[in-house]
Amino acid sequence: MPPAPNLPCACHSGIKYKRCCRMAHRGMRVETPEALMRSRYSAFALGLASYVMDSTHPEGPSHEGDSSAWERSILEFSRETAFTGLEILDASEEGEEASVSFRATLRQGAKDVSFTERSRFLRHEGRWLYHSGVLS
Ligand SMILES: [Zn+2]
Repeated sequence: MPPAPNLPCACHSGIKYKRCCRMAHRGMRVETPEALMRSRYSAFALGLASYVMDSTHPEGPSHEGDSSAWERSILEFSRETAFTGLEILDASEEGEEASVSFRATLRQGAKDVSFTERSRFLRHEGRWLYHSGVLS
Protein backbone atom coordinates (compact mmCIF):
# COMPACT_ATOMS: atom_id res chain seq x y z
CA MET A 1 0.00 0.00 0.00
CA PRO A 2 1.45 3.40 -0.87
CA PRO A 3 2.17 5.60 2.14
CA ALA A 4 -0.25 8.40 2.91
CA PRO A 5 0.96 11.59 1.20
CA ASN A 6 -0.05 13.89 4.05
CA LEU A 7 1.56 11.96 6.87
CA PRO A 8 4.99 13.02 8.13
CA CYS A 9 7.71 11.44 6.02
CA ALA A 10 9.23 8.20 7.27
CA CYS A 11 12.69 9.80 7.15
CA HIS A 12 11.70 11.89 10.20
CA SER A 13 12.27 15.21 8.44
CA GLY A 14 9.06 16.57 9.94
CA ILE A 15 7.82 17.32 6.40
CA LYS A 16 4.84 15.64 4.76
CA TYR A 17 5.74 12.62 2.68
CA LYS A 18 4.43 14.21 -0.51
CA ARG A 19 6.82 17.14 -0.06
CA CYS A 20 9.75 15.00 1.04
CA CYS A 21 10.93 11.57 -0.08
CA ARG A 22 7.92 10.76 -2.28
CA MET A 23 9.45 12.81 -5.08
CA ALA A 24 12.57 10.66 -5.01
CA HIS A 25 10.54 7.47 -4.67
CA ARG A 26 8.59 8.48 -7.77
CA GLY A 27 11.74 8.82 -9.80
CA MET A 28 12.58 12.50 -9.51
CA ARG A 29 16.30 13.09 -9.39
CA VAL A 30 17.66 13.69 -5.92
CA GLU A 31 19.87 16.77 -5.79
CA THR A 32 22.01 16.05 -2.76
CA PRO A 33 23.58 12.97 -1.18
CA GLU A 34 21.81 13.86 2.08
CA ALA A 35 18.43 13.79 0.34
CA LEU A 36 19.32 10.45 -1.22
CA MET A 37 20.31 9.09 2.18
CA ARG A 38 16.98 10.22 3.60
CA SER A 39 15.03 8.72 0.74
CA ARG A 40 16.82 5.39 1.18
CA TYR A 41 16.05 5.35 4.90
CA SER A 42 12.37 6.02 4.23
CA ALA A 43 12.38 3.45 1.40
CA PHE A 44 13.63 0.84 3.88
CA ALA A 45 10.96 1.97 6.33
CA LEU A 46 8.23 1.76 3.68
CA GLY A 47 9.42 -1.48 2.11
CA LEU A 48 10.23 0.11 -1.25
CA ALA A 49 12.81 -2.50 -2.13
CA SER A 50 13.16 -1.53 -5.77
CA TYR A 51 14.07 2.04 -4.77
CA VAL A 52 16.73 0.77 -2.38
CA MET A 53 18.17 -1.45 -5.10
CA ASP A 54 18.02 1.22 -7.82
CA SER A 55 19.83 3.75 -5.64
CA THR A 56 22.68 1.38 -4.83
CA HIS A 57 25.84 1.74 -6.90
CA PRO A 58 26.28 -1.34 -9.12
CA GLU A 59 29.88 -1.67 -7.96
CA GLY A 60 29.14 -1.16 -4.27
CA PRO A 61 29.62 -4.06 -1.85
CA SER A 62 25.95 -4.19 -0.89
CA HIS A 63 24.80 -4.54 -4.50
CA GLU A 64 23.62 -8.10 -5.05
CA GLY A 65 23.56 -9.90 -8.37
CA ASP A 66 20.53 -11.98 -7.42
CA SER A 67 17.92 -9.24 -7.36
CA SER A 68 15.02 -11.39 -6.17
CA ALA A 69 17.02 -12.65 -3.16
CA TRP A 70 18.14 -9.08 -2.52
CA GLU A 71 14.56 -7.83 -2.71
CA ARG A 72 13.41 -10.50 -0.27
CA SER A 73 16.11 -9.59 2.25
CA ILE A 74 15.23 -5.87 2.05
CA LEU A 75 11.53 -6.63 2.54
CA GLU A 76 12.27 -8.92 5.45
CA PHE A 77 14.46 -6.28 7.12
CA SER A 78 11.75 -3.70 6.49
CA ARG A 79 9.02 -5.88 8.02
CA GLU A 80 11.03 -6.82 11.10
CA THR A 81 12.27 -3.32 11.88
CA ALA A 82 10.70 -0.19 13.33
CA PHE A 83 12.39 2.87 11.86
CA THR A 84 12.04 5.27 14.74
CA GLY A 85 14.61 7.95 14.06
CA LEU A 86 17.13 9.43 11.68
CA GLU A 87 19.66 12.10 12.46
CA ILE A 88 22.05 13.45 9.86
CA LEU A 89 25.33 14.22 11.63
CA ASP A 90 27.44 15.45 8.75
CA ALA A 91 27.30 15.70 4.98
CA SER A 92 29.94 16.77 2.52
CA GLU A 93 30.58 16.39 -1.16
CA GLU A 94 33.49 16.95 -3.45
CA GLY A 95 33.17 16.41 -7.17
CA GLU A 96 31.72 13.00 -7.89
CA GLU A 97 32.04 11.75 -4.33
CA ALA A 98 30.17 12.49 -1.14
CA SER A 99 29.84 11.26 2.39
CA VAL A 100 26.97 11.45 4.82
CA SER A 101 27.22 10.47 8.47
CA PHE A 102 24.02 9.57 10.21
CA ARG A 103 22.51 7.93 13.22
CA ALA A 104 19.62 5.55 12.43
CA THR A 105 17.44 4.59 15.36
CA LEU A 106 15.96 1.17 14.72
CA ARG A 107 14.23 -1.45 16.76
CA GLN A 108 13.49 -5.09 16.09
CA GLY A 109 10.96 -6.20 18.65
CA ALA A 110 12.49 -5.36 22.03
CA LYS A 111 15.98 -5.17 20.56
CA ASP A 112 17.68 -1.86 19.80
CA VAL A 113 19.50 -2.25 16.48
CA SER A 114 20.40 1.41 16.02
CA PHE A 115 23.64 2.27 14.33
CA THR A 116 25.81 5.17 13.24
CA GLU A 117 27.26 5.01 9.76
CA ARG A 118 29.36 7.07 7.43
CA SER A 119 28.03 6.38 3.96
CA ARG A 120 29.88 6.96 0.76
CA PHE A 121 27.99 8.16 -2.30
CA LEU A 122 29.23 8.32 -5.86
CA ARG A 123 27.76 10.15 -8.79
CA HIS A 124 26.95 7.57 -11.43
CA GLU A 125 25.66 8.67 -14.86
CA GLY A 126 24.68 12.00 -13.38
CA ARG A 127 22.86 10.78 -10.30
CA TRP A 128 23.95 10.10 -6.75
CA LEU A 129 24.06 6.46 -5.69
CA TYR A 130 24.87 4.83 -2.39
CA HIS A 131 28.20 3.03 -2.67
CA SER A 132 29.17 1.73 0.74
CA GLY A 133 29.17 2.52 4.40
CA VAL A 134 31.40 2.21 7.43
CA LEU A 135 29.88 1.75 10.87
CA SER A 136 31.26 3.97 13.57
ZN1 LIG B 1 11.62 12.12 3.73
